[in-house]
Amino acid sequence: MITAATMDAATITQWMAEIASSVRSEKDHLIQLDSAIGDGDHGSNMTRGFEAVVAALSGDDGAPPGGLLIQAGRTLVSSVGGASGPLWGTALRRAGKSLGEETEFDAVALGRALQAALDGIVDLGAAVPGDKTMVDALAPAVRSYHEATAAGLGAWAAVTAAAEAAEEGMRATIPMLARKGRASYLGERSVGHQDPGATSTALILRALEAALAAKR
Ligand code: ADP
Ligand code: MG
Repeated sequence: MITAATMDAATITQWMAEIASSVRSEKDHLIQLDSAIGDGDHGSNMTRGFEAVVAALSGDDGAPPGGLLIQAGRTLVSSVGGASGPLWGTALRRAGKSLGEETEFDAVALGRALQAALDGIVDLGAAVPGDKTMVDALAPAVRSYHEATAAGLGAWAAVTAAAEAAEEGMRATIPMLARKGRASYLGERSVGHQDPGATSTALILRALEAALAAKR
C-alpha cells in the first residue's frame, strides 16, 4: 500500500546531513572535476558549506522545515566563496520560502520547493539548459519529479526518479561547451569534462532520496 507520507523538520535536517556526508566522501572527485575545467575548489566548497549547514541547524530546535531550509541557504551563502555557495544558498532559501511556516509538507509541496530551488538558481545565475552547469542536472530532476508525482508516485519514488534524471543530466554535461561560470573561460577546452556543479547536484538529489528512505 502506498501511504501519503508527510515530511517534516527532521526530513530537512536528515537531508542536510546526508548531503554533508556524500559531498565529503566525493570531495576528491569533485576537486578533480573542478581542477579540469575550473579552479579545483568545488569539493572543498561543498564540504565546508554543508558541514557549516549541519552545524548551524543543530541548534535550531523547533524551527519548521521551511525555516530550516532558509537557515541552511543563508549559511551556504556566508560560508562558501565560490559560485556554488550563493547559487545553492539561493536555491535552499527559495525552497524554504515555498514551504512556508507549516510543520509538515507533502509530495506536492516538495515538488514546489524543488521547482523554487531551480528557479532561484536560474534567476541568480541565468544559465539555460545546455550551458554545462548544475542546471543541466537540476532542471531534468525537477521535471522528472513532477512527472512522477503526476503519475501518482509518492515523494520517495519521485525523488528516486529525480535523482536518476539528475545523474543522466550530469553525464550529459560531458560533451557540452561551458557558457557560464569559470569553465566558460576555457571555451572549446571545456568539452569532454563532466561539470562539477552538475555532479554535486546529483549527490544532493541522492541525499534527499536517502533522507526519505524511511518514508517509502
Ligand atoms: P567557482 O566556479 O566560483 O570556483 P565552484 O567551483 O564551487 O565555484 O562551483 C562551480 C560550479 O558552479 C560549476 O561546475 C557550475 O555547475 C556552477 N555554476 C557556475 N556558474 C553558474 C551559473 N551562472 N549558473 C548555474 N551554475 C553555475
Ligand atoms: Mg571552483
